[in-house]
Amino acid sequence: MSAALECPRCHALVHAEALERISSQARELENQGKPLEARERWLEALQLLPAESTQAAWVRDRARQLGLPARPETQAGTKSKWASKLGPLAPLAIALSKAKVLLAVFKLNFLLSLAAFIGVYWALWGLKFGLGFVGLIFLHEMGHFIDIKRRGLPAEMPVFLPGLGAYVRWQALGVSRETRAAVSLAGPLAGFLAAVACALVWWHTGSGIWAALARASAWLNVLNLIPVWVLDGGQAVAALDKQERVWLLTSCLALWLLFDQRVFILVALGAGFRLFTKDFPPQPSRTSTAYFISVLTALGLVMWALHGPVALGPR
Ligand SMILES: [Zn+2]
Repeated sequence: MSAALECPRCHALVHAEALERISSQARELENQGKPLEARERWLEALQLLPAESTQAAWVRDRARQLGLPARPETQAGTKSKWASKLGPLAPLAIALSKAKVLLAVFKLNFLLSLAAFIGVYWALWGLKFGLGFVGLIFLHEMGHFIDIKRRGLPAEMPVFLPGLGAYVRWQALGVSRETRAAVSLAGPLAGFLAAVACALVWWHTGSGIWAALARASAWLNVLNLIPVWVLDGGQAVAALDKQERVWLLTSCLALWLLFDQRVFILVALGAGFRLFTKDFPPQPSRTSTAYFISVLTALGLVMWALHGPVALGPR
């Protein structure tokens, strides 16, 4: 059972039905003015929830409240008080009622977003490229996913967003900026490895589409490292202090000139912008800075190596 609890895809949703049953029983007991019995039920629910989940936190809180001795003045109004407390905003009630739907929607969402993704690039490049591109994005996401799992943090399966990229939702609570940066950079690192793999296939087969895929992967991953918004670069740069952001900016300008890839101007602009956002970490992180610049350099190298003779347009 504990293995099922840790199912990375669905977290608490594994036990959605049982939780729904227990919580409705607990709420009924609360309504009947039996807080201690209700508390027992809630504690049962707790065993089915991952300890770090928000639902578990809510249940612990609820159980604690129910465990408190009732004050005399609340005795008479117990029922109405409980009723008002269990208004439509009780987060667990909402979460549980939606759990089953969410589980279905989550799977559907994954498939639909994947299909839409293929559709967009199919129109642009043809089916082969579309499939290859989706595969590359999937590998990028797996980079995050593997890094998250390796650290024992909870992760969910990647969700694809047509034309935008994909992201792995994971709980960043209580995770240091340096770790978050490393997890963010693991995606572009995997994207780099995938690009190298494609380049090697191209090298052996001479089939141009592999060169196109390699270059597209490198380009997309550099774009993803623009240190703004929810992009991987935006997450990673949060670990860099002001001086380190200056280094990042300088490196991007150097990479632009060295590899003649204008996409690095965008990363440099983002780094420049982050000099003024005043969200500097308490300590510098040389590791994150080196990691960030190394991944950028590696991607630039791939773009530079495949620059020129390789036809990239739709065929
Ligand atoms: Zn990513």
